[in-house]
Amino acid sequence: MVTEAGWLKDHVRDIPDFPEPGVTFKDITPLLGNEEAFRFCIDALVDQLGGRSVDRVLGIEARGFILAAPIAYRLGVGFVPVRKAGKLPWEVEKEEYVLEYGTDLLEIHGDAVHPGEQVLIVDDVLATGGTAAAAVRLVEKLGGRVAGIGFALELAFLEGRSRLEGHRVTSLLGYE
Ligand code: AMP
Repeated sequence: MVTEAGWLKDHVRDIPDFPEPGVTFKDITPLLGNEEAFRFCIDALVDQLGGRSVDRVLGIEARGFILAAPIAYRLGVGFVPVRKAGKLPWEVEKEEYVLEYGTDLLEIHGDAVHPGEQVLIVDDVLATGGTAAAAVRLVEKLGGRVAGIGFALELAFLEGRSRLEGHRVTSLLGYE
């Protein structure tokens, strides 16, 4: 966790019982809509995740795209989308991930990462870690290496980090 980032919590809105009863949804749209908060968030993630060789930044649909694209721009590298099933138009690799009820698929274009490339994975929220773990497997399927994994928020009580063991994981805001 990045201690100086604590003020960003004022720009995260809790939505109780969304999208279903019992879930408190962390709405980052106020953070994205505030120029200082958005810039701080991107710069802090670049500070945390940069500093080692990175060839591409991968964003997970949909809110991960919003954070990953400016990070890629700042690092001067390309952006790679990982999308839900059926959205990418070309040849894909797929990985299943577990939802609360059932499973779903994440996809990546087969040529989006080249063997040996160092890839940063970015998403808005680390919850159980299943989504990010599927993104790790997609990168590794294509022969890439995971240079780091970054989130704006981490729901630490769900212990998602335990599913990302062996990787450098960063988040700006932790929730217990
Ligand atoms: P998980 O695979 O459980 O780590 O879930 C992570 C994905 O689900 C991320 O793409 C998040 O955008 C989304 N997500 C999970 N829980 C929440 C939450 N409480 N608030 C906002 N987004 C969430």
